[in-house]
Amino acid sequence: MVKEKYLLSCPGCGRSFSDRYTLDCPSGCDALLRTVYRDRRLTLQNLPGIFRYKGWLPIEGHLRIDAGAVSYESVGLARELGLSHLTITFSGYWPERGGRMETCSFKELEAQPTVLRLREKGAGVLQVSSAGNTGRAFCQVSALTGAPVVVVVPASAADRLWTTVPSPNVCLITADGDYSDSIAFGREICSLPGIVPEGGAKNVARRDGMGTVMLDGTLAAGRLPDAYFQAVGSGTGAIAAWEAAERLIADGRFGSRLPALHLSQNLPFVPMVRAWEAGRRDIVVEDMPEAGASIARVSADVLTNRHPPWGVRGGVYDALAASGGRMYAVSNEDARSAGRFFTDTEEIDLDPAAAVAVASLIRAVEEGFVEPDEHILLNVTGGGYERAAEDLDRYPVEPYLQVRAGEAFEGDVRDTVLGWLAKQGVTVRA
Ligand SMILES: *Cc1c(COP(=O)(O)O)cnc(C)c1O
Ligand SMILES: [Zn+2]
Repeated sequence: MVKEKYLLSCPGCGRSFSDRYTLDCPSGCDALLRTVYRDRRLTLQNLPGIFRYKGWLPIEGHLRIDAGAVSYESVGLARELGLSHLTITFSGYWPERGGRMETCSFKELEAQPTVLRLREKGAGVLQVSSAGNTGRAFCQVSALTGAPVVVVVPASAADRLWTTVPSPNVCLITADGDYSDSIAFGREICSLPGIVPEGGAKNVARRDGMGTVMLDGTLAAGRLPDAYFQAVGSGTGAIAAWEAAERLIADGRFGSRLPALHLSQNLPFVPMVRAWEAGRRDIVVEDMPEAGASIARVSADVLTNRHPPWGVRGGVYDALAASGGRMYAVSNEDARSAGRFFTDTEEIDLDPAAAVAVASLIRAVEEGFVEPDEHILLNVTGGGYERAAEDLDRYPVEPYLQVRAGEAFEGDVRDTVLGWLAKQGVTVRA
């Protein structure tokens, strides 16, 4: 019997099985499936970007894209904060440091292995609903590989969708209303046979792709960090960091203790902070008072997910509990000044979400939640927009279809999507 590179395993029932772009446990457990790789030791590949970590990605081949996270030991910020071991892992555009994510966020770490996994499992056309960075990352990977994707975004976010090379294989649909309306419409499109939802936190390619931040930061420092800082919206990146750290512990060469996860959200929308402080495995409406108005007031709106994978087995709550973690609520003002401080000390501009993480690190140092000699990994999840605007071309992705909030997926609307699929050479028997 040929041994497979990896299997999927369900932490709910303990079953293992082969991957068919599987998003849920076949027994129906409320748990996030995980990859279990045959190789317990991480072997680096001589491949570009994220594919250096192919050994621990749920794919067989690789893409010819040189866009991975880059890590270095901080001098400027570390000195200002009095930290002796601060590793920065940067996902964005910063050519001087080898950063080549041209859409400037760590969502490219998710998009690359997801597109490839779907292609290898032969499963169809990907559908993504996004309020911004995720959609842009998938459009970029589509542009670079020709993979067809259907992206649904709120009409108000359409101007965030651009690529640095033309993206003829993207079907961009704008939906009136907020992010939830886009998600609902996206789900309806997935009723067409052959259209596959990206899957969010349930998608192991997304998580293992984001987990390369922990791999890269650990390899750069030569050991696992004691503390890991990241701003969270869905928390998928944090779950990924936890899973990657567990793999590195099993590898045996990088330490035996899980890094404490220090996760931050942007006030006034901080549901995970509130649920954590109340010690609850579920997020309740009181954790999101006046959700719509709160979401409208945060500076980092990629952090405003109303349904994060919090209480699910293997989700963010478990990651925080297992690692002895902590959560931070950061104001817009603190995030902005932390962002300026970072740009002054490290000389690159940040995504507003990354500025929230920097603010949480500053607070942790001030309050003594981390010691000056601890090994710290700061996940800078996005940045380099100003550099990218100087260096790179920018192609707006034009909407193929515009729909009203709550519009049903039928009639002309449905025919338009079927027509696009036909042009892509995909025939759907509907
Ligand atoms: C999506 C995003 C985050 C939050 O990541 P999650 O995995 O959703 O918690 C943080 N920073 C940036 C720049 C992002 O795009
Ligand atoms: Zn199960």
